[in-house]
Amino acid sequence: DGSLPARATRTTCPYCGVGCGVRATPDGRGGATIEGDADHPANRGRLCSKGAALGETLGLADRLLHPEVRGKRASWDAALDAVAEGFTRALDRLGPEGVALYVSGQLLTEDYYAANKLAKGVLGTGNIDSNSRLCMASAVAAHRRAFGEDVVPGTYDDLDQADLLVLVGSNLAWCHPVLFQRAMAAKAARPDMRIVVIDPRRTATCEGADLHLPIAPGSDVALFAALLVHLDAHGCGDARYIADHTQGLAETLAAARMIAAEAPALTGLPATQLEHFCELWAMTPRVVTLWSQGVNQSSAGTDKANAIINAHLFTGRIGRPGMGPFSVTGQPNAMGGRETGALATMLAGHLEWDAPGEHAALADFWGLPRLATGPGLKAVDLFEALGAGSIGALWVMATNPAVSLPAGDAVRGALAAAPFLVVSETTRRADTAAYAHIRLPALAWGEKDGTVTNSERVISRQRAFMPWPGEARPDWWAVAQVAARLGHADAFAWSGPAAIFREHAAVTGLARPASRAFDISGLAARSDADYAAMPPTRWPVPASGPATERFFADGNVPAGRARLVPTLFRAPHAQPDAAFPLRLLTGRLRDQWHTMTRTGSVPRLMAHAPEPVLTLHPDDEPALPDGSLVRADTPAGSAVLRLARDAGQRRGTAFAPMHWTAQFAPAARINAALIAATDPLSGQPELKHTPLRVSPY
Ligand code: SF4
Repeated sequence: DGSLPARATRTTCPYCGVGCGVRATPDGRGGATIEGDADHPANRGRLCSKGAALGETLGLADRLLHPEVRGKRASWDAALDAVAEGFTRALDRLGPEGVALYVSGQLLTEDYYAANKLAKGVLGTGNIDSNSRLCMASAVAAHRRAFGEDVVPGTYDDLDQADLLVLVGSNLAWCHPVLFQRAMAAKAARPDMRIVVIDPRRTATCEGADLHLPIAPGSDVALFAALLVHLDAHGCGDARYIADHTQGLAETLAAARMIAAEAPALTGLPATQLEHFCELWAMTPRVVTLWSQGVNQSSAGTDKANAIINAHLFTGRIGRPGMGPFSVTGQPNAMGGRETGALATMLAGHLEWDAPGEHAALADFWGLPRLATGPGLKAVDLFEALGAGSIGALWVMATNPAVSLPAGDAVRGALAAAPFLVVSETTRRADTAAYAHIRLPALAWGEKDGTVTNSERVISRQRAFMPWPGEARPDWWAVAQVAARLGHADAFAWSGPAAIFREHAAVTGLARPASRAFDISGLAARSDADYAAMPPTRWPVPASGPATERFFADGNVPAGRARLVPTLFRAPHAQPDAAFPLRLLTGRLRDQWHTMTRTGSVPRLMAHAPEPVLTLHPDDEPALPDGSLVRADTPAGSAVLRLARDAGQRRGTAFAPMHWTAQFAPAARINAALIAATDPLSGQPELKHTPLRVSPY
């Protein structure tokens, strides 16, 4: 109801998938004092620069504070009526395939659940996808291939306990800083611990590493094939684990052998360096291989992740303390979207479209017989469909696709031409909001109330400690109001987020085979008071039977058998050529978050990197003066940035941050220059490998 707590509130940082616990105390001047929560298992009191500055992001400048219909202030009733009418018109004209929602890992689980129920249950469409598609969809697809379900086997404690931590495509020091702090603390306590970074760039993370492998972009499958062959040749396979718990070994080894010999050429790494890495991995039982967007944001992202998982399954180094493959997600609630089914490829609660009885069980439980019968469009396809005119109504929540999706100019064109676009936002500054026919004011961090799930399956509460400003309301409430206008008030008659969470938890107990890992049905009977006080809780929490800390250890393989997946090397979708001789990699800055709508308002965060920069190796394009403005042209489009040089940049590659919006630097929107190639399984766009030409501006 928007009322204020009297003292410090325990909540969760809204930025990255580490999911740090925060204690927030309003300062009475519109800001708040922020401290790390020493009792939260993710961070144990630590914070990074972004988390520590959260109290400075709470101002109301540029906030969207009341609904707007076609640019004019409107009442909530009028705006919600217009949303319901717009979607009804599109349904009448185009059917369920002609409507869509595009949502976000910034949503709370309760918002995600409500949005998914509206899309799949009421609108009858599979067309609800999340910006998590840009973040970890390849990891999800790899988990489902290897484990039969989207399950992260381990916990952050494994990073502390590993003797070897391998970071693949992860600038952990900047993108998941508290995990990096934990890794550094573990190494300080146990100096024999080794850290290897596999990344084309020499990043800040390399400063804490024992070995940096500056791999050729996109060649991870070849590296891990060489590792698998090495492990096999040196008798490192765990024969009993393989026999009891896995399938697919013969074909996986055969595939690896086909490319292992080419690994030095494909990865660009000297054979001796490759050998050193393989020996280190082979002789260190307690190994965690952690990966992030450098693996996932690739047209071969799913294969890369499976190649990593293969090495762990082969050696049985999984699900035990200090061992396992580990996907870390970029967003605070990327996993919540996976749990609630708010991705076009999933049903709610890890239920499967085609598993016998599961679709019917969900339709019955919801009392919504029009439940979508199959997957919908993934993010890139969804916006291409919007541009082609086959989506008649789109509702975007808590995300800024005009800045974050590849082929950004085409995305802007599609948004501009959309017959009916609804945007739920906290800020007027989001580029996407400029195209909306209806703008709905959403609650921001500190105002909204619900749960998020971090990268280690820990569900944490995000609690409100600030009043609701203006007419801003929770996203789940707006969704429920639209559902009511579409004739489904009873199915959305929640009293608050606790009621939604209970329903979500109950879904995870539906039609459940014993092998299903995601089960929080033990939380379905929690009272409102229990929900309000809920401590960080790792799933699973079954209604009966023991909870599980780690999955896929000996004797704890939920789906019965894990699968080794044959993976063959596939080069990035587009190759450099005479016209575009370089390769453009994108990524994050230390002190910015997504499209800067929050962190861009904090001067001390902006000071770390005050303008958009394109970084090249000193040997590339040497005639261009360091510090000059340069034009970055690709087959998809262009951007203008200031040139910087870094000997840690791999020759032939350039790096640009992904954050800059039209408001901060209109010419530097790097997503306008990215091609929209995707992984064929996960649909995740290849945001790292666009051919590039750099010239004076
Ligand atoms: Fe927030 Fe991530 Fe920093 Fe933790 S590491 S404080 S979750 S941004």
